[in-house]
Amino acid sequence: MRIFVMLVLMPLMLVFSFPLQGAAQQRIPILIYHSIDEFKGSGSKELYVTPENFEKQMKYLKDNGYTLLTFERWKEIDKVNKPIFITLDDGYKNNLNVLKVFQKLQDRTFQPAATLFIISDFVGRSTRLSKIELKNLAESGFFSIQSHTATHPDLTKITNYEYELKQSKEKIEKMIGKPVIALAYPYGNFNDQVVAETKKYYQFGLTTTPGPYEKQGAKNERYLLPRIYVKYSTTMKEFKESVQSNERNR
Ligand SMILES: [Zn+2]
Repeated sequence: MRIFVMLVLMPLMLVFSFPLQGAAQQRIPILIYHSIDEFKGSGSKELYVTPENFEKQMKYLKDNGYTLLTFERWKEIDKVNKPIFITLDDGYKNNLNVLKVFQKLQDRTFQPAATLFIISDFVGRSTRLSKIELKNLAESGFFSIQSHTATHPDLTKITNYEYELKQSKEKIEKMIGKPVIALAYPYGNFNDQVVAETKKYYQFGLTTTPGPYEKQGAKNERYLLPRIYVKYSTTMKEFKESVQSNERNR
């Protein structure tokens, strides 16, 4: 009997325990940025990250084997090495600096990608990306363009969900010729009704609740995705810590 256990059961136990370990709970960082630019005195400084710092952060992800995903590739989170999402809210024109960094870092080992959450009624304003810029960004292969509503209201305080959620989605789809599947809640604000309305038109809803995403199988968890702020004052040490949440428990 002892020999049977050693020769047959032990190897079997080993074989079956490894895949379980591999499937241990993954923590996936979804980073949130706004402006990628030098801070020149207008607006909140912490909502800026300089192009230089942004490049250092992306270079770190490249050098450490991260896979930059967009929400169209959500199913790959269990398959790729160190999945991470880069998101930028509000559709600022200075997000063109992201393109420059991505073009610089791209090579056959690293394919940069980011999601821009744009406010559909603000497209074309002087500080925001224009229609043609958005179309070009979408076609560059680096960007997924998604919705941050039509006018950036607090969604917990409105009633015209059809305009803010459905029509903004359709407007952006028409602009870029690609499906819009994700919504970032303005100010990160949501409640049960906002989630229910979002589910009618989108596959994902993004909050600003801090922390990495951890799959728990909870109801509506794809509509309550947390995000990690990267700020003007974020140091490389802090940046590394926030993306490393990814490797815990592995
Ligand atoms: Zn916003």
